[in-house]
Amino acid sequence: MAPVSGAVSHWFETLPTPRPSLPGDRDADVCIVGAGYTGLWTAYYLKRADPGLRISVVEARFAGFGASGRNGGWLSGLPPGHRELLAEQHGRDGVIAWQRMLDAAVDEVIDVAARDGIDADIVKGGNLEVARNPAQAKRLRAEVEEDRRWGVDGIELLSAAEAADRVAVDSVVLGAFNPHCARIQPAKLVRGLAEVVERLGVTIYEQSPVTAIAPGRAETPHGVLRAPVILRATEGFTARMPGLRRRWLPMNSAMIATEPLPQRVWDNIGWVGRETLGDLAHGFFYAQRTADGRIALGGRAVPYRYASGIDRDGAVGQDTIDYLTGVLRTVLPQTRGVPIAHGWCGVLAVPRDWTGTVRFDPVTGIGEAGGYVGHGVTAANLAGRTLADLVLKRSTALTALPWVEHRSKAWEPEPLRWLGVRGLYTAYKIADRHEAGGRAATSPVARLADLITRRP
Ligand SMILES: Cc1cc2nc3c(=O)[nH]c(=O)nc-3n(C[C@H](O)[C@H](O)[C@H](O)COP(=O)(O)OP(=O)(O)OC[C@H]3O[C@@H](n4cnc5c(N)ncnc54)[C@H](O)[C@@H]3O)c2cc1C
Repeated sequence: MAPVSGAVSHWFETLPTPRPSLPGDRDADVCIVGAGYTGLWTAYYLKRADPGLRISVVEARFAGFGASGRNGGWLSGLPPGHRELLAEQHGRDGVIAWQRMLDAAVDEVIDVAARDGIDADIVKGGNLEVARNPAQAKRLRAEVEEDRRWGVDGIELLSAAEAADRVAVDSVVLGAFNPHCARIQPAKLVRGLAEVVERLGVTIYEQSPVTAIAPGRAETPHGVLRAPVILRATEGFTARMPGLRRRWLPMNSAMIATEPLPQRVWDNIGWVGRETLGDLAHGFFYAQRTADGRIALGGRAVPYRYASGIDRDGAVGQDTIDYLTGVLRTVLPQTRGVPIAHGWCGVLAVPRDWTGTVRFDPVTGIGEAGGYVGHGVTAANLAGRTLADLVLKRSTALTALPWVEHRSKAWEPEPLRWLGVRGLYTAYKIADRHEAGGRAATSPVARLADLITRRP
């Protein structure tokens, strides 16, 4: 049978019946636009801190419709931004504190899920990165050194045999294990969180796209939500809001899920620790072993659509499914013959300097968080807690973190934006081919592309 395409993502067994939309004009103390992890964590921490606050979340479709219901399920401490860039602006100590808080936020999510009864198939098995050629191995060594310098504790290099012993990936030459990562079922986390905040007294309006935000008001086709505080939590969809087209690039990421693997194939692969798994290719993959015995694997098939275009409910072409299936079969040849059940995609936000932000302007009452460059599952928790402190005018360790009030310049106008991103990803593909040939170091084509992507 042909794999299902889209239907938002494999993580929804059936799509939820949406909650009612905004029933005309309403007032609140805080209005949050977007019911993904960022919006819901912000609502959660605000309500916990001040149960009297009237908080409304206004969502275009349904809670978890965006990347929060479609992602790879890496609850990792990977930084949603450029550590060197932030260190140049704010000093090394602040960035080390940020990294430590990101790692600690992995446990915070796990603790809240346990305390508030969210079953999201969470297993904290760490993250296994594998290098599959000498150039990747050189990058992996450098990455581990760098992570240690930025305060990541407990990260270790693994020999090829040690790495393959965890997950029998083909042609591994080196591995690295980072303990600060858990596998989650993304949609279960975001849907569970929506239920928890509702129980705390937050109102969620679904099917209510916000068409304009101004101080004190968020407009929808059904009415206006008036509130002195308006927080935008629309990440990869932000470019669709008026005036924000060049703010954050909606980067596309696509995934496939296999049918459940037979036990004999699992016996061959291992993966008993449920680590999240990725590689060091420039066109990298990310994967997890799901609770029901499938492999879900993602990568950047079509990285960017002209004029910040966005998919329709996660639909992907057969070419994308074929590409990701090819990656899966190459990395884990044991899966040959296991059918692919589903393919889907979604958008994440990439700022021009590849660095996310949490911002709140007490004068206008407008705030936002996002731009997590594909590392938003944990970062959204830290951002939500931070936005809550900013709104409540609390000066805390969170509000002192270097990404708070960070500003990136706008992306180039089209067609430059499209040509640039397309050019970069072509360069990365060429570099991966160079490196697969056995080069000892990163291809110069990739080094040039890195310079362009990572810097303002
Ligand atoms: C395929 C894929 C794989 C990924 N894998 C990982 C991973 O493994 N680990 C990781 O850390 N990160 C991963 N990411 C990134 C991560 O999922 C996101 O950074 C994170 O979910 C962002 O959460 P959010 O709440 O800010 O945004 P979203 O979850 O995108 O939520 C935004 C919400 O806003 C709503 N919205 C948009 N416009 C409006 C409007 N005008 N009015 C009202 N509502 C609106 C949307 O419908 C949506 O529900 C992945 C992303 C994708 C797409």
